[in-house]
Amino acid sequence: MQIDTLYLEKGARDYAAAARIVEKLNPQKIEEIEDYQTIFSKRRTPYLSKRDTRNVFVAVKRGALVKEAPAAYGYGSDDLHYYYIHAYNCVYECEYCYLQGYFSSPDLVLFVNHDEIIRDMRAIAAASAAQRVWFHAGEFSDSLALSHITAELADYWQFFSETPNAYLELRTKSINLTAMRQLKPINNAVVSFSLSTHTQAARHDRDAPTASQRLAAMQRLKELGFRLGVHFDPLIYAPDFGSNFEAIVCDLSERVGFAGIDYISLGVVRFAKDVYREAKENYPASDIFARNFIQGTDHKMRYVRPLRLQMLELGREILKKHGCPEDKIYFCME
Ligand code: SF4
Repeated sequence: MQIDTLYLEKGARDYAAAARIVEKLNPQKIEEIEDYQTIFSKRRTPYLSKRDTRNVFVAVKRGALVKEAPAAYGYGSDDLHYYYIHAYNCVYECEYCYLQGYFSSPDLVLFVNHDEIIRDMRAIAAASAAQRVWFHAGEFSDSLALSHITAELADYWQFFSETPNAYLELRTKSINLTAMRQLKPINNAVVSFSLSTHTQAARHDRDAPTASQRLAAMQRLKELGFRLGVHFDPLIYAPDFGSNFEAIVCDLSERVGFAGIDYISLGVVRFAKDVYREAKENYPASDIFARNFIQGTDHKMRYVRPLRLQMLELGREILKKHGCPEDKIYFCME
């Protein structure tokens, strides 16, 4: 990753995480600023400029640190689901990524006030002590890709190991297990990998590990004793979708096995309207756009419902055929 300038918020300077990040990234240029938003949110930077160089902001997250997740976001419909924001933007470049068009810049923002995020999690978990409360990471940035630099996972681990009704989900496509290797598996933390067919990952998940590499990382984590999840999301239509999906499910079953996986979600490709427009502009030749999308009542752009349901049902049948228990499968955001 080529860094142009590391912008360090004055308010972030005293956090241990800030010192770690600055030391590990060791950028040529560091500039102290008052508020990252005056640059990150105000300057419009083309999304694809991230291929050449980008700025990194080390900042304090203000406002809501832990937010309620939308309906059908996570496994366990009787559980409560929240997500927390540890960073904005991502080192990978998936063509369907919702981050394009979401922020006005692809620059990375790394937040350092993890103690405050954990404080809010603690309060939420205590208020619902009789319930399972999930906290999902990876909504606005991959949760493992930079974890060896940001090094916050140990703090979260401490909190989750002391709070049995709180569950952590780290969503990722990364095979960077450096930080995970420093941790001991706990029952209430799951590393969930986004997977797609081999063909789809090779075509659309630019700069991200291949589907095979992700399976290898899952195998390694399983050997180390960590709990795992899988998100087959987004599923993208292709005439050979069924056979391609069956191939990755076979690999998953042989290399990881469903006994080692707590849950598997299936979700069909969808876009917020702005993101749809931006993705089409950024990747005009992508075959993601070969099928028609229509705008739903929630304003999201999706395939027509019969096609979505056909893909989801086919996915579920293939998973079951290869030995995945049905109660581990759920449909995401449908
Ligand atoms: S890994 Fe996720 S956050 Fe990163 S570019 Fe791909 S879709 Fe976006």
